[in-house]
Amino acid sequence: MPPCIFCKIIVGELPSTKVYEDDEVLAFLDIKPINPGHTLVIPKKHFENIHDMPDALVAKVAVAAKKIADAMLNIGVKGVNVGMNNGAHAGQIIFHAHVHVMPRYGKDSFSLWVGKEYDGNEREEAAAKIRQALNP
Ligand code: AMP
Ligand code: ZN
Repeated sequence: MPPCIFCKIIVGELPSTKVYEDDEVLAFLDIKPINPGHTLVIPKKHFENIHDMPDALVAKVAVAAKKIADAMLNIGVKGVNVGMNNGAHAGQIIFHAHVHVMPRYGKDSFSLWVGKEYDGNEREEAAAKIRQALNP
């Protein structure tokens, strides 16, 4: 198995600043935060990204992310982005599944996507393809 820095964090071989832990989930601060408190929520078992994870574990990680996001609101955070990069093309750099919980204050270093316009039948075609993939 290739060395995985998040697996090393889980076993204590690399340092981290922990904010939450249970039997299946660990949450610690991102070393390069969008804002102070930017947290990564990870399954303790190694999975590359969301596609490999059992649904029940996805739910556990999501619930932990919500708990942390709720807690942030209680300490003056104004809004929270919760997101996950899955695959290199989606910007994933660390290939141990993780959810970002990002405290926000309006205008800061984080910028959201700029939406495109659909052309012709593109919108219906895109939806039809996804529906077909969901129910092959
Ligand atoms: P991504 O794979 O693009 O979703 O992002 C990986 C994130 O992991 C980045 O935001 C990094 O700053 C963060 N990161 C990388 N190494 C560490 C580490 N040792 N401790 C905490 N966060 C890390
Ligand atoms: Zn790992």
